[in-house]
Amino acid sequence: MSELTIDITCPVCTTVFKKKARDLKDGTTIQCPKCGEKTTIKGDMFTDMVTNLEKAKEKTGNA
Ligand SMILES: [Zn+2]
Repeated sequence: MSELTIDITCPVCTTVFKKKARDLKDGTTIQCPKCGEKTTIKGDMFTDMVTNLEKAKEKTGNA
């Protein structure tokens, strides 16, 4: 059973890093491992992430 991860792009240095989907919820603050910029996951950003997750599930979907 694999853990679902979400790609986060830092708005400052554009580093892409991964977070576990289960660790993220609306309002969660994440910190870029490279530049230390803190980004709060909220509103549209969170909705987009969830939408992308659902799409990814559909793609891979082994029944
Ligand atoms: Zn950064």
